[in-house]
Amino acid sequence: MMDARYKFLDLGVVNAPYASAIKNIMAEVVDSGRYIGGPAVEKFERDLRHSLDVPDAYVVAVSTGLDALRLILRAYMEMGRLSPGDEVIVPSNTFIASVLAITDNGLVPRFVEPDTGTANLDSSLIERAITSRTKVLMPVHLYGRVAWDEDIKEIARRYNLIVVEDNAQAIGAKSTMKGLYGGSMAGDLGDAAGFSFYPTKNIGALGDAGAVMTRDAELARVVRALGNYGSEKQYHNIYAGLNCRMDPVQAAILSYKLGYLEEENGHRQRVAETYEREIANPAVIKPPFTNRGDCVWHQYVVRVEDRDAFREYLIERGVETGIHYPVPPHRQQCYREYSSLQLPVAERLAREVVSLPVSRCTSIEDAESIAKIINGYLS
Ligand SMILES: *Cc1c(COP(=O)(O)O)cnc(C)c1O
Repeated sequence: MMDARYKFLDLGVVNAPYASAIKNIMAEVVDSGRYIGGPAVEKFERDLRHSLDVPDAYVVAVSTGLDALRLILRAYMEMGRLSPGDEVIVPSNTFIASVLAITDNGLVPRFVEPDTGTANLDSSLIERAITSRTKVLMPVHLYGRVAWDEDIKEIARRYNLIVVEDNAQAIGAKSTMKGLYGGSMAGDLGDAAGFSFYPTKNIGALGDAGAVMTRDAELARVVRALGNYGSEKQYHNIYAGLNCRMDPVQAAILSYKLGYLEEENGHRQRVAETYEREIANPAVIKPPFTNRGDCVWHQYVVRVEDRDAFREYLIERGVETGIHYPVPPHRQQCYREYSSLQLPVAERLAREVVSLPVSRCTSIEDAESIAKIINGYLS
């Protein structure tokens, strides 16, 4: 592709303001001689708790967002709370990793359709998906928008479901409604949450990284052991575990970048405000706007019926876009057994969604120009 005037995302540009600090941080880790675990990782765990202001939570730094989710589910299995074949309710339009964490543990995804507007779980459809084997509800705060409401909370309580949040995309978002244990930050609404610090996320590492957050001390202990070969004491194994630890280099970088969480999310909010104000094209359906902090705009996703023509029009004018996501999980080759499911909302979203640039690469002026270009599109 030619160098587009309006890049969708350039991670070098995103990290440029932090680059010299990051180089110093990396040099400190080199000099420290601690390359697995140690003070940098412990500090990151405290920093994540503090930056989200959830003093009652435990944080376990792990290798990736996918590992965070699979370790949570695996820990519940080790604790006797889940058995193979138990069902997990998950949105039908989520990123594949939510579902991989489920099937990797021998659990069964129960796909529930999203609301077309928010793209988050349609809570009015959850109850009819519940069977005697349903044990877990996994809301995904997709595109940075908190997926939490009175219905979800009430259903989780009534059916005694374990709530595992996929919080890969909504770090720093705050629900307008309290969670199961009185918290309101995304990641502190249910029983446990997986975070991702994949480089494109709102706070991104310079490689892979993730975290588990929970108020359950026992769960945190089991997750930590499972991610460390199943061991708490070296060479003594309680569980047949995995190796899913966060590198100190990533931990130190993330501790530093967490200091800019509000600034990063604030920029995305301003870009979203600009699109909300400036885009006025009946062919382009905007996401429901909010400025209450319950969306941190990991993606700004519009819907357009003739998506390919729209994207083509934009790229000819220098605007790069993304698609999150073009193929829903039940249509993936690895999940052939679910291919006959009727999930028309997920399929429609997969056909129509277009993500506009919303990162640090996009200035407010860029967003205004992009909106003008979009307003010139004739469907
Ligand atoms: C990124 C992401 C994950 C996985 O995180 P990784 O760190 O890439 O493993 C899981 N769920 C959602 C919704 C994501 O966007």
